Amino acid sequence: MNLMDALRRTTIVAACLPVAIALAQDAPSPAPAVTVIHCPNLFDSIAGKMLGPTTVFISGNKFDKVEPGTQTAPGATVIELTGATCLPGLIDDHVHLDDQFGKNTYAEAAHVNFADEVLRSTLYARRTLLAGFTTVRNVGDTNYDTVALRKAVAEGTVVGPRIFTAGPAISTTGGHADHTNGLSMDLQGDPGPMQSIFNGPDEARKVVRLHYKEGADLIKAMPSGGVMDLGTNGSGPQMTEEEIRAIVETAHDYGMKVAVHAHGAEAIRRSVIAGVDSVEHGTFMDDADIKLMKEHGTFYCPTVYTGQFVAEQAKKGAYPPAVTKKALEVGPQIIKTVSRAYQGGVKFAYGTDAGVYPHGQNWEDFIYLVKAGLPPAYTLQMATINAAQLLGHDDELGVVAPGKLADLVAVPGNPLDDITVMSKVSFVMKAGVVYKRDSQEVLTQ
Ligand SMILES: [Zn+2]
Repeated sequence: MNLMDALRRTTIVAACLPVAIALAQDAPSPAPAVTVIHCPNLFDSIAGKMLGPTTVFISGNKFDKVEPGTQTAPGATVIELTGATCLPGLIDDHVHLDDQFGKNTYAEAAHVNFADEVLRSTLYARRTLLAGFTTVRNVGDTNYDTVALRKAVAEGTVVGPRIFTAGPAISTTGGHADHTNGLSMDLQGDPGPMQSIFNGPDEARKVVRLHYKEGADLIKAMPSGGVMDLGTNGSGPQMTEEEIRAIVETAHDYGMKVAVHAHGAEAIRRSVIAGVDSVEHGTFMDDADIKLMKEHGTFYCPTVYTGQFVAEQAKKGAYPPAVTKKALEVGPQIIKTVSRAYQGGVKFAYGTDAGVYPHGQNWEDFIYLVKAGLPPAYTLQMATINAAQLLGHDDELGVVAPGKLADLVAVPGNPLDDITVMSKVSFVMKAGVVYKRDSQEVLTQ
């Protein structure tokens, strides 16, 4: 094994067909045949409105009936959520479950093993679910470990959210996902398609096909520089429009959507024109980009809290100099961009970049989105029906309605009056199984 291989800790993860896994994740649960939940309030994610007292009937892993008032059914298990507001299970469309930045992250790259990262990811998955996020889109991992995590959650080996994963993010040489950036030349090697690095449309197609082969549900591409790598360029374009188009056309052929990490205006413009499904971060989005995103129906995942978090960490000296400079520039800008993009009619989905900040605090974006001027009800739609639409699974997720998967969470009080209650999720049900009740974890294993 050469040094490059050692650094990438290449491990073969069994490839699984995404469709089969998606279905297996939602196999009928061991929950009682019928459960009845009494919700004092229920958020209607389609209308963006709060409903009064509602009874939710659950049969197996799906919602059966949703009716006004307080009702019951013979032989049913009744759950009273006194004083609470019920919402569809929350969805975070931008997480990194196998990673969490800490003060030792950059030094750890030299001595933390792949297995260490995988074991940590099981804790991060559990924290995410207990925070009320019953579904996540993982947009960038190491060596497809979240494909294995997806399978472990589906099998019940690990407690966590339903996972849709992009596998490793894809990038050009020296780009944001080139993990040899900043290493000494002796250690860099020449990463190529097998390491998710490409140059030119043909290699781009190969990288996308390799991801399909290894079980990715979607593609995450890095057409602009980023904050957390050791490169110097935080926002400039790092892919040609032709390269992005090759990614999008190939991914769509295979039924996979494309999310792009893009900070700079030119990288956003090229990506939207090439037909990507979502822009992540979007920090320096200009008015022309906003117009284009509205026209193309491109989703925006703003990761607004992460912007604030990295700027604060940079001020405390938590990052190397190259990262500090970029974090101070990019962080504060995102909140302004969020306001402009919302006013400009861009469609938002909830995506936080959990992993850059600690997992389980995925609710922080609600607070900052409201600070940016978004209506609280819209932020809740972002994390339910809009996020489900971006996943392409709004037929079964993001809404409490008959026939949908029984993902339901509750918070004390009313988030339309006080958005901070989203930090206090007290009840979590995923596919009909209760994982948290009265703010305490319910052991399911
Ligand atoms: Zn990210």
